[in-house]
Amino acid sequence: MKQSMSDTSQRPQPVATAETRPFWDGAAEGVLCLRRCADCGRLAAPLAPRCVNCLGDVFKVETLSGRAQLKGRCVVHLQPLPGRDGPLVIVEAALHEDPRIVLIALDETGITETALPGAALRLGFGPVEGSHRFAMVLPPEDQG
Ligand SMILES: [Zn+2]
Repeated sequence: MKQSMSDTSQRPQPVATAETRPFWDGAAEGVLCLRRCADCGRLAAPLAPRCVNCLGDVFKVETLSGRAQLKGRCVVHLQPLPGRDGPLVIVEAALHEDPRIVLIALDETGITETALPGAALRLGFGPVEGSHRFAMVLPPEDQG
């Protein structure tokens, strides 16, 4: 299922907070970045103000591989985003570095159409829409 984009400049844009800024800064560069607790080493979900393991609030930013596993998939036939033609395929993917962290991404490749939960995915970011790049399922890397 291939989706098409028209005028995506009207898409609502996220507002970075102290917690989400590393994620959005990484997204602007096309890389997946999250914070890792400096005290216990646990990876933190983008919105977590403190480490869910030790309540630490000192983090270091880490670039992740983008490798993930499919957890779930939903096809939205309504037009939930201005400027984007539907249907939208929204995917939940558990990160390779910590499967307890599940990110949401769009699948515009159709890769997940026949995939089962647990299938290997590669996450990255799409082109700039408005002022941000949003998480996307990427085609598999060439094996050659
Ligand atoms: Zn911690």
